[in-house]
Amino acid sequence: MIKFLNELSDLRVQISGWKRNGYIVGLVPTMGSLHNGHLSLLSIAREHCDKVVTSIYVNPTQFSENEDFYRYPRDVNADLEKLSSSNTCDLVYQPSNMYHKEHKTYIVPNGVALNLETENRPHFFDGVSTIVLKLFNQIQPDIVIFGEKDYQQLLVVKQLMRDLDLPIQIVAGKIFREKDGLAMSSRNVYLSENERKLASNIYRVLKLTRKKIQQGFDVSKVIKNGIAELGSIGINQIDYFTLRDPDNLERLTQFNKDSRLLIALYVGTTRLIDNISVPLINNGETDIEN
Ligand code: AMP
Repeated sequence: MIKFLNELSDLRVQISGWKRNGYIVGLVPTMGSLHNGHLSLLSIAREHCDKVVTSIYVNPTQFSENEDFYRYPRDVNADLEKLSSSNTCDLVYQPSNMYHKEHKTYIVPNGVALNLETENRPHFFDGVSTIVLKLFNQIQPDIVIFGEKDYQQLLVVKQLMRDLDLPIQIVAGKIFREKDGLAMSSRNVYLSENERKLASNIYRVLKLTRKKIQQGFDVSKVIKNGIAELGSIGINQIDYFTLRDPDNLERLTQFNKDSRLLIALYVGTTRLIDNISVPLINNGETDIEN
């Protein structure tokens, strides 16, 4: 039976009971509207932990004014059904409010938080880091699972743990995709039928670009070709499509080590992000997932 809590005081009683028993507590933070990508992270938590918490909270401080905070999909009943039937979680924490009226303290990360997502969403990682730290302080997890889907976010959280000395292990979960390759996302529901078909090209172009990079073609030309390929099918608004160091996100103009290709773009009015690893390989094999 999954417990469902809204109040911090109730949460603290539950967590301290678990800690007294010596249980390892795992957390998967989410904004709800759960899909199989979220459930895959919960399965990882189940493997590593005695008790698993999922938090559901649409965090207002990570949205800018022109973003979709108010229309972000919310369906807690459907979420609870998915969680019950997957049996991957012991406690759902859905705080009604995380910010006191007088809230004045924000985490402002540097380093891996700069550029990419923050080019167009300057305070995004301030909001993410602040809510993550608040959730960690409330839930006191030993292990937290984040998805590689939000690759920069994963690195920002790891940097936060390192810089602020938090004794929490961050585990990365692979990107869970639809059959046609589109990375699962709560925002995919915004896509019309036609946009949904177009969106499957993102993974196709990522894989094609990876293959060309691994074959030794010029990185910037290959990326330009990828952008042109997306443009030819009507995906013209691309925030970034870039090859980066997988640990510090520095831009790579040459392919001489394991790398990560990251992309953010609009399909219609919906902003989607995706990424793929580009490992250095010696055996000519190119079709490596994720
Ligand atoms: P969200 O609810 O979108 O804020 O995501 C909550 C967590 O789920 C984050 O760690 C995401 O990276 C992760 N996540 C979202 N989509 C996927 C996916 N398709 N595969 C794996 N993890 C995902």
